[in-house]
Amino acid sequence: MKTEKTITRREFLGSVAALGALGVTGCAGPAGSSSDRSGRLPEQGEYLIRNAYVMTMDAATGDLPDADVHVKQGAIVAVGGSLQAPGAQAIEGRGMIVLPGLVETHWHMWNTLLRSMSGDKREYGYFPTALALGKAYLPEDMYRGTRLGAAEALNGGITFVHDWCHNIRGPQYAEANLRALRESGIRGRFSYGAAQGHPATEPIDIADLEGLHRDWRSHSNEGLLALGLAWRGVSTGATGSVSAAAYQRDFNAARALGIPISVHANNRKGSDAIALLAREKFLGRDVQIIHATWVSPGEIRALADNGCPVSLSPYTELRIGFGFPPTGDFLAAGIPVGLSVDTTALSGNADMFAIMKAIQNVENSRTNDEFKLPARRVLELATIEGARSMGVDDRVGSLKPGKRADLIMVNTREVNLGVFSEPAHMLVEAAQPANVDTVMVDGRILKRRGRLTAIDVEQTVNEASAALTAVRKRAGWW
Ligand SMILES: [Zn+2]
Repeated sequence: MKTEKTITRREFLGSVAALGALGVTGCAGPAGSSSDRSGRLPEQGEYLIRNAYVMTMDAATGDLPDADVHVKQGAIVAVGGSLQAPGAQAIEGRGMIVLPGLVETHWHMWNTLLRSMSGDKREYGYFPTALALGKAYLPEDMYRGTRLGAAEALNGGITFVHDWCHNIRGPQYAEANLRALRESGIRGRFSYGAAQGHPATEPIDIADLEGLHRDWRSHSNEGLLALGLAWRGVSTGATGSVSAAAYQRDFNAARALGIPISVHANNRKGSDAIALLAREKFLGRDVQIIHATWVSPGEIRALADNGCPVSLSPYTELRIGFGFPPTGDFLAAGIPVGLSVDTTALSGNADMFAIMKAIQNVENSRTNDEFKLPARRVLELATIEGARSMGVDDRVGSLKPGKRADLIMVNTREVNLGVFSEPAHMLVEAAQPANVDTVMVDGRILKRRGRLTAIDVEQTVNEASAALTAVRKRAGWW
């Protein structure tokens, strides 16, 4: 017997939006409207994490089963046993695995408003959905989507993101998006991309990109954020293939500014975009290739010869049918490989632990080999190798004196962990974002005892939810 009234989706969303409009109280985070919160990140304190299982991810040092990490003024001072730091605030590390913050290498963070919105019919698939809703975005929607993404990232132990921003509909869009990254305190690269629906024959707004580059000091959050180009390249988008004149101009603009470039390629059977990029001399150490799930041996050689890093996003590649990432083939060729979220419109969430598990499982299954991609190698891809693929391994990706203090603490005394067996295996196979107890970026504690310290989660969620409701309405997308 059915007695309860079924709440429709529209009613539910309406009530959530109303909560947001009321401004829910009782939040632990900073107060104020969404526009006045920059410059309120926690201090770069002096900390001594004690008696933890420390995975340095540094080849020379390896794991230190009962060790301390000393952090001061945003940098790692020392890693080792029985460190002395009289002025430091002690952080108990017993039962914790301490490791470098997880490095994410390609993520359309504005899409976080569109979480799980890739539908079940062709007209509601990822690309038409992102196009229709992306066109209805206002600058504040970029802010709200990206802020939700940054909150999810930090909550799950991701301390570096590559925000592949391909919906810049005017200078205010990039600025709003960057504001969300700055306020979160996360480290990353912001790659400037064409708007959804941008004409395939027109270059991006190069003057806007140049302006951002010129004023980058005001956007970079004291060096935490870098600028790059989210290049459309030669691939076919929702609005057709980009003309050679347009993609050449975009590419030249980035090279003239000396900023790194990133491009999606070879995600469909039969694609030979990488061969074309190689022929036309578009490959280089500064050019990151995304997906490359359908790649010939010659193309792998071209990537290796040119030092191109590759970004793999197993969950979106599986979900949308791009095929299986040939991780082992890239690694065997010596290509730097990083792991990525891509879009939560397809992946649902931004769980890097799950991404690590997927990349291992796909590779072992694809090659019928239980031992093909060991857990520790996968953990390297999510830390030091990912950092290398983004060109930031001199600063982050391992725990080493002199590096910036980007690290996480994973609580092993939780019900999905509980025993301490093989730490690399535990992190790749068993750990979840909820087990991340503490997150530090540049010596700032952004999550402590399981709670974000600089982001008001309730407000972030309420405002993102209200933003999606409004975007859908403007787009006529129900
Ligand atoms: Zn992508």
